[in-house]
Amino acid sequence: MRTTRQDMQKISGKNKVSVTILGSGTCVPSPDRSACAVLMRAGDNNLVFDAGPGTMRRLLEAGVFVFDVSHLFFSHYHPDHTGELVPFLFANKYPENHRKRNLFLCGGPGFKNFYLQLKSIYHEWIDVSGRLDLVEFGPTPNEAHLFDGFTLFTTPVTHSPESLAYKVTTPEGVSVVYSGDTDESENLIALSRNADLLICESALPDPMKVPGHLTPSSAGRIAARANVKKLVLTHFYPECDTVDMFQQCRKTYSGPLILAKDLLTIEMDPV
Ligand SMILES: [Zn+2]
Ligand SMILES: [Zn+2]
Repeated sequence: MRTTRQDMQKISGKNKVSVTILGSGTCVPSPDRSACAVLMRAGDNNLVFDAGPGTMRRLLEAGVFVFDVSHLFFSHYHPDHTGELVPFLFANKYPENHRKRNLFLCGGPGFKNFYLQLKSIYHEWIDVSGRLDLVEFGPTPNEAHLFDGFTLFTTPVTHSPESLAYKVTTPEGVSVVYSGDTDESENLIALSRNADLLICESALPDPMKVPGHLTPSSAGRIAARANVKKLVLTHFYPECDTVDMFQQCRKTYSGPLILAKDLLTIEMDPV
């Protein structure tokens, strides 16, 4: 039998960890930028952070089918981050019994109620009970949650009452932070301290700053203060594609910097 790269990584105790931007856009329809979603592959787990409209198509393009998603984490409940949840659950029912492992469906304060409200509308169409673990995280800063294969840290950020940022650390020592939507946030800086990768929203160019969102230079300031090893800016409204977001971020952050595109994949080297 041939030994695959994945087998070799298992033998050496190192699992491959990668991050794929599924959607780098917003609520504004775009052929190039799907709404917010990020995939993180870590060992046997396929973690998805947010699921805006179009997420399942981008997942397929990244080679991941709905049944392969092990965890779905929502940063908050705005439709550009949650719009695919109902179609995603519906898709998980067909063909029946195809999901071989439970789906962890997770969010911040009020998440169970949010899910139950959807369920009260869609009933059995989105009922995957028996294969579902529903988890609601509290608002405690930098709270650790142990999952099989990784540790998750949650912290409240400045956007809507339920908004959380997430950090995943793997047994290989890789740490990845996803900001969700936020304004300037000391909690996000604390969560991101020395992280290998910060995926940070940067919704609008510097001159268009609005409350509740970041710009390239404010996201860069967070990355610099947290001393992250790499920064990916994402969640771009169309205005972002008309200016030099890279240079705006360079005003505050001099480290490795990437502007997100849909299906951009970053391989994370084991530490
Ligand atoms: Zn939002
Ligand atoms: Zn958003």
